[in-house]
Amino acid sequence: MAGLQDKVVLLTGASRGIGAATARLMAEDTPTLILCARTAEANAETKAAVEAIGARAESHGFDVSDADAAKALVDDVLARHGRIDVLINNAGSGKMGSVADVPPEDYLAVQRVNIMGPYNMIYAALPSMLERDAGTIINLTSARAFIPDRFYAAYCSSKAALLSMTQCLHFDVQDTNVKIFAFSPGFTQTDMVREIYASKVFRQAALTADEGQPPERPAKVLTWLAREAPDDLAGQHVQVQFNDISRRAGLEG
Ligand code: NAP
Repeated sequence: MAGLQDKVVLLTGASRGIGAATARLMAEDTPTLILCARTAEANAETKAAVEAIGARAESHGFDVSDADAAKALVDDVLARHGRIDVLINNAGSGKMGSVADVPPEDYLAVQRVNIMGPYNMIYAALPSMLERDAGTIINLTSARAFIPDRFYAAYCSSKAALLSMTQCLHFDVQDTNVKIFAFSPGFTQTDMVREIYASKVFRQAALTADEGQPPERPAKVLTWLAREAPDDLAGQHVQVQFNDISRRAGLEG
């Protein structure tokens, strides 16, 4: 399959976890990968790995919650490459704790990364997609968008808002060939999960961080979604756990 060959793919949160695994998998299609994380150095390993596979890659360091920085990056990519074919808003963060204990600025910091990050990127990139009448946007949300839990308010509420924003945007663009997807990777062994499970307030969780799936599993579904952009899933909440999704994406087991 070479669905992303010569496509320009902008992936945030590419330095670790699901983002890094996705970049490696997508590289097999030889796209141009614009890899983003807060520090460009953190992306160096991902960049080297995807270049070794045969993709062209760039590493950019900026905070997605900074609207000016997001626009500057998108404008720069558009000026040099002429288009962004696929935008994947994967960067995310969390903060565990009771609403009574998490200071407003910490709550807001999670919302700024998880909601405003994707919004900033879409606001900057969408006009060029609409102008070309082509493009795919995938926002990484979570089943936590509708599964509330103790000490999880900041993260769950941010992902619920992102899911809603994604579904609303689907209606905004439904008369065009720009497609938007909400993707939930499921419980995955990454730094984010290890941090959450190491949190004292979460220590009584039934699962341990090591029981999560490897990042390569959601990466395979995410790569399939970016390659195929299936019409019937636009505006839907695409979850790895759904049997139909794992079957269509070619996941075993
Ligand atoms: P991760 O291992 O913690 O990686 C997060 C990535 O985002 C890193 O590359 C990080 O790089 C980047 N990042 C964080 N804050 C950023 C910011 N403000 N600006 C730019 N980049 C930033 O996380 P993950 O588990 O792979 O999660 C990826 C996505 O899947 C997230 O949106 C997460 O909410 C979602 N998700 C994960 C799970 C799971 O079980 N792991 C389940 C459901 C949903 P720097 O630190 O270098 O910036």
